Amino acid sequence: VLSCRALRKVFGGHVVLDDLDLDVAEHEVVALIGASGSGKSTLLRCVNLLEDLDDGTIHLDGEHITDPRVSPDLVRRRIGIVFQAYNLFPHLSVLDNITLAPRRVYRRDRAEAEFQARELLARVGLAEKAGDYPDRLSGGQQQRVAIVRALVNAPRLILLDEVTSALDPELVGEVLTMIRDLKADGMTMVLATHEMGFAREVADRICFLDGGRVIEEGPPEQVLGEPTQPRTRQFLRRII
Ligand code: ATP
Ligand code: MG
Repeated sequence: VLSCRALRKVFGGHVVLDDLDLDVAEHEVVALIGASGSGKSTLLRCVNLLEDLDDGTIHLDGEHITDPRVSPDLVRRRIGIVFQAYNLFPHLSVLDNITLAPRRVYRRDRAEAEFQARELLARVGLAEKAGDYPDRLSGGQQQRVAIVRALVNAPRLILLDEVTSALDPELVGEVLTMIRDLKADGMTMVLATHEMGFAREVADRICFLDGGRVIEEGPPEQVLGEPTQPRTRQFLRRII
């Protein structure tokens, strides 16, 4: 589904992504781990074309999406993204939050977009919240709405950046359950996380980022249980 080759991203002389390669297969769930500042968010933002690369190429379903002639809006329709917090527009209802981009950017029919949004909300138990404003929802409910919004264009891939780290502990579970359900439905996902327990459970593969590259990757039990790289071991010792 996704193929990133030799990605390079420099912020003010600081190399954040350095010749980074990442491939994601259909139905695969990949967890990105690594120290704060290791480039996890930058990588996700580059994949969603929210950042310009300094070098490298990204292909989605074989199509070269970092070609400057490709419309970022059309790519973003096929790649959903959810951030850590402040995802929803406070002045819009839940339904409008979900259907704004489909209607405005992608010119989709309002009735059809709303029908689909309601269906997705119902599936995650939020049907009765469609008309509410975000401040009437718990943090966990808001984050589930943000995930629904990422799903409404039926993307090929969704990117999740620390989607539980701003939540109160008792609200984390409902969001993790939703991600587990998406995995069960076969959704292809790349998620950046500091929660090793969740990464171990949900990811098919874990990629450890360090120095702007993926320096170790493999099944969770291998990367978390028997890391081969000293840097990975050091990182895991520090966080556990
Ligand atoms: P965390 O685990 O804390 O979320 P991360 O792995 O997501 O960290 P990034 O947010 O990708 O790390 O940041 C990588 C580096 O790039 C950091 O040194 C950060 O300061 C820098 N950086 C990120 N965005 C920008 C920006 N817009 N301008 C300048 N520097 C940036
Ligand atoms: Mg980050």
